[in-house]
Amino acid sequence: MGISYIAGNWKMHKTRAEAEDLASTLVRTLSGSQKKIMIAPPFTALESVARVLKGSNILLGSQNMCSEESGAHTGEISVLMLKDLGVRVVILGHSERRSIYGESDELINKKVHLAVKHGLEVILCVGETLEQRESGKAESTVQVQVERGLEGISEEMLKQITIAYEPVWAIGTGKNATPQDADAMHLFIRREIKRLYSDSAAKHILIQYGGSVKPENAKSLLTMPNINGALVGGASLKADTFVPIVEYERT
Ligand code: PEP
Repeated sequence: MGISYIAGNWKMHKTRAEAEDLASTLVRTLSGSQKKIMIAPPFTALESVARVLKGSNILLGSQNMCSEESGAHTGEISVLMLKDLGVRVVILGHSERRSIYGESDELINKKVHLAVKHGLEVILCVGETLEQRESGKAESTVQVQVERGLEGISEEMLKQITIAYEPVWAIGTGKNATPQDADAMHLFIRREIKRLYSDSAAKHILIQYGGSVKPENAKSLLTMPNINGALVGGASLKADTFVPIVEYERT
């Protein structure tokens, strides 16, 4: 297995002081970790968390960004502003962006291109709803999201992209996919990458699992052959639950 990449998505939680506090604890506790680690605080805490993370082994991430570089886009945040704050990674296509804010694969693809052009790493989220899974459409849903999300992305550009498989029915619900079901979908995604790119691209791409990952289930999920890490929501809000996920082999 290659490197393991653990990312925390803080969603719409934490004031600046709370965010700095958690980031400081993580920097202290995880300084010796060999994992690739990222945290994505809300936009309002990016600047203060950037100061805390400076010189550490934890990457600063953003939860979203605008598909345009600048201009009349009231309420949006530009890739240039994120880079200015020290952001290195952007989460795109999260299911909450897709379902609550109506983001299409086309819009997400535009954001992926913009982020890559500006040298940011991307975590591209894909995943089926419960209804899609129950009607046998889990794979076809994920296939379309992968293919459209990566449209026009070259094999070279793909090196900046991680895919997060997050079954929508498992996000924030306490229900996680079984390690076997999750691994099967990760293998399916890997085969898609092979079909769209090459053997080598399929071997090297990191595919995270997301959906109610907690200290109790992290090891069983993250030791599966096709799972290269986790995108963590709820459990990333406290050091007590995030740190044991990063250090899952010790649990
Ligand atoms: C997420 O928001 O990406 C996520 C996986 O959330 P949770 O861990 O809370 O299910």
